[in-house]
Amino acid sequence: MKYPLSMVANMAGYIVKNKRNPPAAWQKTMSPTADLSNPFKIVYTTSTDSAREPHPFQNKRFPIVLQLEPLHACNLTCTGCGRIREYESVITKRLSLEQCLAASDECGAPTVAICGGEPMLYPEIAQLAATLLHDRNRSVILCTNGMFIKKKIAEFKPHSRFFWNVHLDGLEKTHDLCVEREGVFQQAIEGIRIAKQHGFRVMTNTTVYQETDMKEIWQLFEFLVDLDVDGHTISPAYGYSSVNDREIFMTRDDIREKFKDMDKLAKRFKVLNTPAYSEFLAGKRELPCTAWGNPTYNVMGWKGPCYLITDAHYKTFEELMTRTQWENYGPGRDSRCEHCMVHVGFEPSAALGINNTLMDGFKQLTWLLS
Ligand code: SF4
Repeated sequence: MKYPLSMVANMAGYIVKNKRNPPAAWQKTMSPTADLSNPFKIVYTTSTDSAREPHPFQNKRFPIVLQLEPLHACNLTCTGCGRIREYESVITKRLSLEQCLAASDECGAPTVAICGGEPMLYPEIAQLAATLLHDRNRSVILCTNGMFIKKKIAEFKPHSRFFWNVHLDGLEKTHDLCVEREGVFQQAIEGIRIAKQHGFRVMTNTTVYQETDMKEIWQLFEFLVDLDVDGHTISPAYGYSSVNDREIFMTRDDIREKFKDMDKLAKRFKVLNTPAYSEFLAGKRELPCTAWGNPTYNVMGWKGPCYLITDAHYKTFEELMTRTQWENYGPGRDSRCEHCMVHVGFEPSAALGINNTLMDGFKQLTWLLS
């Protein structure tokens, strides 16, 4: 199976329940907060078009995966990372353990992706993961550059709903170039080896840039087969405003060209992208943005509208859900979204079965069970 049964059952039950009965408090539309003092705001969205199609999940919004960023500090300065640039002025701040747990309680998403910054620099990282797993019954995906796994592995215990998610953008030379430091690939691989030896589940995540050679991604996944890695997510990069002076980001056409052989990749390796999201990347189907499915919480609050664009930070999750003008975001609605195909915006649409036919449902099930 792609994911452990308990994780699938948790998520499936949650989605069915919330699709039938979406929490009413999150479906209201309030006026946006004029957060003019927000130094992180890039630009307010202005596009409105009353003639456009309503979103298929209008008034049915609920989160699926919480992106929890306990801190933004990192030991690396990766080329494509928007976080260390956007949050430079608060890079030394971090959330308390209580704030992290309260965010998870507030939004209720069954899966928490702990990211950052480098979350392994968060002093209470092991306690946070354990509490989410055992006290909150969450699935936990710990996104890391892998360099501290060896040092901190003794603080963690394997669990069927816990994954290390190690960032790898290519083989040694490419990955070290992407993270702007030699030796990182080898340390990440050592971290993966050690985690597997200790009985943990390990997945990898790969970002594809303009410069990425997809043949190398194939070679990378071949190499990871020998390490018995449990799966891979793969997503195109997004041109953050804070890093878009570089020509590493892609248009939608570029992305579709890069991902045109996703079906072959997914046939050969344990690709964890849903089939619908893979088809979307390959240009074989359309999906709407469901950024509310992957909300982000960090030291500034709930980041709206999404992991990538910052138009406001809200104090409460309810404010994020009700004050964000969701209808104004997504391709064709906001110019900043035009070339976005990232998993945080579109994987929830696939998981929710938006635009699914019966055959898609069957494909999804076969994929999950394979
Ligand atoms: S399309 Fe992308 S950038 Fe735009 S709101 Fe959705 S996730 Fe964010």
